[in-house]
Amino acid sequence: MANPSLLILAGDGIGPEVMAEVKKIITWMGDKRGITFDVSEDLVGGAAYDAHGTPLTDATMARAQEVDAVLLGAVGGPKYDKLDFSVKPERGLLRLRKEMDLFSNLRPAQCFDALADFSSLKKDVVAGLDIMIVRELTSGVYFGEPRGIFTEGGERVGINTQRYTESEIARVARSAFELARRRGNKVCSMEKANVMESGILWRDVVTEVHQAEYQDVELSHMYADAGAMQLCRWPKQFDVIVTDNLFGDLLSDAAAMLTGSLGMLPSASLGAPMANGRPKAMYEPVHGSAPDIAGQGKANPIACILSFAMALRYSFDMGDEATRVEKAVEKVLADGVRTGDLLGPEGGTPVGTSAMGDAILAALDASL
Ligand code: NAD
Repeated sequence: MANPSLLILAGDGIGPEVMAEVKKIITWMGDKRGITFDVSEDLVGGAAYDAHGTPLTDATMARAQEVDAVLLGAVGGPKYDKLDFSVKPERGLLRLRKEMDLFSNLRPAQCFDALADFSSLKKDVVAGLDIMIVRELTSGVYFGEPRGIFTEGGERVGINTQRYTESEIARVARSAFELARRRGNKVCSMEKANVMESGILWRDVVTEVHQAEYQDVELSHMYADAGAMQLCRWPKQFDVIVTDNLFGDLLSDAAAMLTGSLGMLPSASLGAPMANGRPKAMYEPVHGSAPDIAGQGKANPIACILSFAMALRYSFDMGDEATRVEKAVEKVLADGVRTGDLLGPEGGTPVGTSAMGDAILAALDASL
């Protein structure tokens, strides 16, 4: 059987620095676990603009469509801020998401015990937290028509349209139910069916998909505003939350911050299954290119490493290997190894990007 294929797009700023640590783990997996990936690397964002005058070439786009998974670092930086909108680094990322039709955005909120003090919530509320927010990414109010600023009766009117088709709701619901089966087997669907027709349809379709295909999974519904409250009150009641593009944007950011630093947060964006049954997929840390610390070897590589762990689990069916990587991260944190972003008010001596990667490799070695 062919090796699983991975396209690495490290991008700009700290992207290449954190990706270097993932590459060490990929090499480790080949050497110590006999798992070899067919890895190709290419440019995206400002780096691609510098080399080719575009943030993503057609050839890179074509390669992204072929591989089993794309792993992206980060794009952007002040050097590119004045570029025309059409060639800004972010356009490369948006093109990947759009052309791969990555409709299901997975944002885990997981709290490692060693970092529980970092949360703005009480330790017992967040310690051991492990929830997954599934956000619909390609439709809803960010894309619906009509949209624009119009003049009506002598004043300006801003209009956006929340629009969802049944099939758009059904496919993201399936994605959430499938995930729940690999986790705690619970899905909570959030919308505002009390005030929005699109919310009524959302609730109906999620219920229909559940009835027809996923009765083994526990399903509940919650209004999104109540969901936001419950996320702060007792987040551990949730396993998988599925919601639309706008509510998902807000709820996933709120949930992510329950757990501490931006340098810890991975994400996945999944599309429809390919011929080999694997979903189209792109994995990336939630953080950006962090120009303020780029080139200084200070960045926390854990978000990127955990994004790779998500690829192992969701694209390559290597859940055990993903857990091994996550446990190695947990061990290193429990041992007190910290990059600068993970130092609390009491301070301490931070390690650099590469030393954090090496500590995780040592923990992986110890796991054998
Ligand atoms: P950012 O995430 O790059 O940085 C915000 C803050 O968090 C900074 O202080 C940074 O030093 C810190 N930080 C982020 N990641 C870290 C890590 N791994 N380790 C330690 N500290 C970390 O967001 P920003 O400053 O708003 O944006 C900077 C650039 O990144 C902009 O050009 C923006 O457009 C771009 N951006 C890209 C993405 C992406 O590629 N997906 C996402 C967000 C922002």
